[in-house]
Amino acid sequence: MPSVFTYKFDTPVYKGTSSFNTGLFINGQFVDGSDGETIDVINPTNGKLVTKISAGTAKDVDTAVAAAQKAFDTTWGLHVAGAVRGKLLGRLADLMEERADELAALEALDNGKTFSWAKTSDVVASVGCIRYYSGWADKHSGKVIETSEDKLAYTRNEPIGVVGQIIPWNFPLMMLSWKLGPALATGCTIVLKPSEFTPLTALRMCELVQEAGFPAGVVNIVNGLGSAVGQAIAEHPHIEKVAFTGSTAVGRKIMEAAARTNLKKVTLELGGKSPNIIFDDADIEKAVSWAVHGIFWNHGQACCAGSRIFVQEGIYDEFLKRFTEKARSLKIGDPFEPGAYQGPQVSQIQYDRIMGYINSGVEQGATLHLGGERHGDEGFFIRPTIFTNTQPSMKIVQEEIFGPVGVVIKFSSSDPDDIIRQANDTIYGLAAAVFTQDINRALETAHKLHAGTVWINSANQLHPQIPFGGVKQSGIGRELGEYALANYSNVKAVHVNLGHTI
Ligand code: NAD
Repeated sequence: MPSVFTYKFDTPVYKGTSSFNTGLFINGQFVDGSDGETIDVINPTNGKLVTKISAGTAKDVDTAVAAAQKAFDTTWGLHVAGAVRGKLLGRLADLMEERADELAALEALDNGKTFSWAKTSDVVASVGCIRYYSGWADKHSGKVIETSEDKLAYTRNEPIGVVGQIIPWNFPLMMLSWKLGPALATGCTIVLKPSEFTPLTALRMCELVQEAGFPAGVVNIVNGLGSAVGQAIAEHPHIEKVAFTGSTAVGRKIMEAAARTNLKKVTLELGGKSPNIIFDDADIEKAVSWAVHGIFWNHGQACCAGSRIFVQEGIYDEFLKRFTEKARSLKIGDPFEPGAYQGPQVSQIQYDRIMGYINSGVEQGATLHLGGERHGDEGFFIRPTIFTNTQPSMKIVQEEIFGPVGVVIKFSSSDPDDIIRQANDTIYGLAAAVFTQDINRALETAHKLHAGTVWINSANQLHPQIPFGGVKQSGIGRELGEYALANYSNVKAVHVNLGHTI
């Protein structure tokens, strides 16, 4: 029998008890993994064990896929009207909203993000996403296509069937919501694997899914390691589509597995090294605030983090001064401390990885302008870090660090195309930000950048209605907005002959 996890939060910002099952959620039931193994959940604030959760195997993925297929064939998919699916999604959003504090507290405990950010950003965005797709469930219709008087042709958007979803640890609840929303709205059934580093909110959500009234088998959550459960989802012959968010390296493995097995449809949301371009005429105070948010939000653990900050030469010195002051003033501390902006990185592995990048920057000759060191003496805290005097070939300029580490690069005014070339000099193309008061320059730059999203005079802004995804090695396909519905539907064309003879 899988165990129940009970945790009493007694913090300055939240007091309350959370209690839920730690098993695999398959066919509406919590069960142990088939080999009885567990995974340790570690609190990144102090490195201590929080709890153990069941770890799944390939056999458990088989069981979950069978449950999802049965649900698709009997109680979900084309067997239930879109309006009913929408109603259940709406109920789920309401339940999440009612438990906003508890979900935010679990996110802070498990991931290390601050309670206040989790509550005002992650939970709000997650509720908004589920609610947004509840509205789509009865509106994603096909089209009538007029060709000639002797034919009626129309399309149907049919749900794909059983879909596999694999998500990362940086926004556990939000990534879960981005995946559940469009898949459930279109009528698919789900086998989802959370990150082994941050399983808690997904487990709590299983109970909310049940409480909302989704039939058994529609949502199955199988925790486990990427090499076991993730790989089994990517290879499964009866999963028709896999949606993955995570690193570019694992994204490649997902595509390879899909190609090797049943050519399942693949969407990938991968890494980034987003440029943040600040022109001389920008409102410098606002640009500084957005640039700080761009790289230090969520401790730099954002796929769209503005990690390369290009500043035009006329304001470079002033910008760097103010940017440094603001970064230095960010309050680092326990995620439940009032006013804390930055908590710990998610794990020892990430801490070591980021420190490795900081060392490489120093070794390759960049100037360590701020930070670069641990904060405190327990947990995985890293101070906000800024490098200057970099070269384009350095690892800290080219590779995704996924931590609170930004490079500030001066660009000249003499060749307007030079900044575009530098900004686009990356294997990634997820997002970019442009700061200027000149609308023509803003739009011209936005259109020349190789990125799935460009923010003008802001950074890291996400909205359920607005598509998000990458070009180049940042991914394939789009999440959010109407676009995400296409990820989970097959278009069927029906030709009705009204009298044509051959
Ligand atoms: P990761 O690629 O290591 O892991 C992501 C998920 O894949 C986890 O659930 C993991 O268990 C699983 N996985 C690992 N190996 C697997 C395998 N062989 N087969 C199948 N699944 C496997 O990434 P991470 O460290 O959890 O997250 C950080 C990465 O995610 C960063 O690169 C970041 O940019 C990216 N990310 C992208 C977006 C986006 O929307 N583009 C959003 C968030 C995070």
